[in-house]
Amino acid sequence: MSAIVFGHMNPDTDSTISALAAADLYTKRGLAVSAAAQGAPTPDTQFVLDTFGLTAPAIIDDVAGKDVYLVDFSDLAQGPKGLAEANVLGIVDHHKLGDVTTNSPLEAWIWPVGCTGTVLKAMYDFYGIEIPKAIAGGLMCAILSDTVLFKSPTCTDADKAAVKALAAIAGVDYEKVGMDMLKVKSSIDGIPAKDLVFRDYKDFDMNGKKVGIGQVELIDIAMADGIKGDLRAELAKVKAERGCHSVFLLLTDIMKEGSEMLINSDDIAVVEKAFGKKPEGDAVWLDGVLSRKKQVVPPFQTAFK
Ligand code: MG
Ligand code: MG
Ligand code: MG
Repeated sequence: MSAIVFGHMNPDTDSTISALAAADLYTKRGLAVSAAAQGAPTPDTQFVLDTFGLTAPAIIDDVAGKDVYLVDFSDLAQGPKGLAEANVLGIVDHHKLGDVTTNSPLEAWIWPVGCTGTVLKAMYDFYGIEIPKAIAGGLMCAILSDTVLFKSPTCTDADKAAVKALAAIAGVDYEKVGMDMLKVKSSIDGIPAKDLVFRDYKDFDMNGKKVGIGQVELIDIAMADGIKGDLRAELAKVKAERGCHSVFLLLTDIMKEGSEMLINSDDIAVVEKAFGKKPEGDAVWLDGVLSRKKQVVPPFQTAFK
């Protein structure tokens, strides 16, 4: 039986490209693995696919009973239906270890770096397998996207070195391609508020409470001025529909290097507890905050204790 490799729900560039790269690498190692995704590519991921002539992975839904590899996540809550009944053969990731379990030993590559793409670059090197030009370009963009052009505190020297090596293989100027990609990611014109909230949304379990955190990265936060009312209405809907204690949306300004957080919570005091700053109404500006994983989830985990 051939296996499938896929990333988390609401797939980002890393989840999508890392699945393609992992399928290429595993196949060249003699394993039967094909790439999949839990949804269609976002516009910025589509830009990366088009720039390097890559094809989007097939969309999957139920994986019960299947042989699977995971990239960019290891939480059941971020997986497709049936993941708990699937046979997980391996994980390539850069997040905290989640709650998937396996029946047999698995191949796990989980490193504290800025992007799964960086781990995959190291895996190609480890196995002595040449990285195809298109995949190199894609992985390069995945790393630039996850590390917000190296500005995120999640970025490590390994990520920077990987981008430079991948850019050389792809034969592109990484600063230019990275900026073009972020411009596409930033364009929110005509995109429904719901799509923006779920563009990069994750539910977390915080001391038994369900907490949703979405993030939209913008080159200029003023781009979102006209739609904040719609975003607030959407947050209220998301909170009710998903039964969340709190729903937060980070509007991240990658040039000013900070985030405005829109808040809809049963207990708004958790925000001040987490960040030491009192919200004005239902929003707060968090200076220097670019990373949900490193700068938002941990303080909330503590505040919810
Ligand atoms: Mg991701
Ligand atoms: Mg990632
Ligand atoms: Mg991300």
